Formats: sequence, structure tokens, C-alpha cells
Amino acid sequence: MNHQNTLSHDILAATGVNSARCYQCGKCSAGCPLAADMDFTSNTVMRMLQVEDEQTDKDLLRSEAIWLCVSCEMCISRCPMAIDIPKVMDYLRQRSIREGLPNKHAKRNIIPFHRAFLDMIRFTGRSYEAGLVVDYKLRTKHFFQDLTLAPKMLLHGKLPLFPELIKQRNNIRRIFKKTQNLPS
Ligand code: SF4
Ligand code: SF4
Repeated sequence: MNHQNTLSHDILAATGVNSARCYQCGKCSAGCPLAADMDFTSNTVMRMLQVEDEQTDKDLLRSEAIWLCVSCEMCISRCPMAIDIPKVMDYLRQRSIREGLPNKHAKRNIIPFHRAFLDMIRFTGRSYEAGLVVDYKLRTKHFFQDLTLAPKMLLHGKLPLFPELIKQRNNIRRIFKKTQNLPS
């Protein structure tokens, strides 16, 4: 495989993160709160990028790990080489979507949640849980999932029925417009 066409090369060009600097100490994965649920832990992701193999690149773009990462930045804070793994994960998610490679679970559950969350911010400028839940359920058709939680949350005032809108929401829309047009 021409090394100019590898994922690691594209990541370096797009984000400035050089996966070749990883020396597999494993500190990132040891501190990652989602490592136990990931098919590939963060140091494995780095190793897969170093391999520079077409099939391995595709496996990574189809993986569960890239969608489970919550960008908490624990890994980068522990990494002796300060490798920005959250930035890599973000690139991999976008690339996976662009190439139509997200796995079934990501397509059915995780991507709809990301879209519902972003729409909530786009329209209200802040958190509005009731709207988020309704939007997510409409997208996924998981109408009965966690249904018993709603009354308890309403009772404790944790689920306001109406959104509080921020002022100057056009600034938020401008941010969305600007970032959505960024080259990736
Ligand atoms: S940013 Fe992602 S990979 Fe890094 S520790 Fe957090 S969840 Fe794990
Ligand atoms: S902590 Fe840094 S150097 Fe160590 S395995 Fe993770 S990415 Fe590689």
C-alpha cells in the first residue's frame, strides 16, 4: 500500500497528530473509562494506524471503539508523548461516515444520538433534555426504552418540559455553519 494513502497519513495531514510517535506503553488505555467496552482500546487504535494496511484501516473505520470514545481526554492527559487520541477518534468518526462505514450499532443508536444532540444545541443554544429524548426516540424508534425514568425525572424537576432559549442564537447557527464547512 502506498503510504501516502493510509489513514495515519491522512490523520497527520488533517490534524497534525502523528500516530508513529506512540510506543505502546498502554497508559492511555489503562485510564480510559470506556476501554472495557471497546473492541479496540486506544493504544490498539494507535498500533492499527502504525501498521498502514488497507484492511486494518477499514477495520478501524468499522469499529465500535471510535463511537464509544466520549472525548473525555483522560488518554491525552496520561500519554507521555501527548498524543491527541480524542482528535484522532473525532477524525475517524467523520471519515467513517464519509466512507459509509459506521457499524450497525453506531448507525442505529450512536449517530442518531449525536445528531439529536447537535440539533438541540443548534435550536436552543443549550441543553434541553426533553427535546433531546423525543428527537432521539423519533430517530431510533426506541419508544419504550427507559420510559419509566421520565416520571421520576419530571418529579424531581430534572426534565423541564419547555426549553430555555439563549439570546442571540444566530451566533450558534453561525458556528455550526462555519464548522460544517471545514475541510476534513
Ligand atoms: S478520550 Fe476517548 S479514548 Fe481517550 S480516554 Fe476518553 S473515552 Fe478513552
Ligand atoms: S499513552 Fe501514548 S504512547 Fe502510550 S500507548 Fe497510549 S498513545 Fe501510545
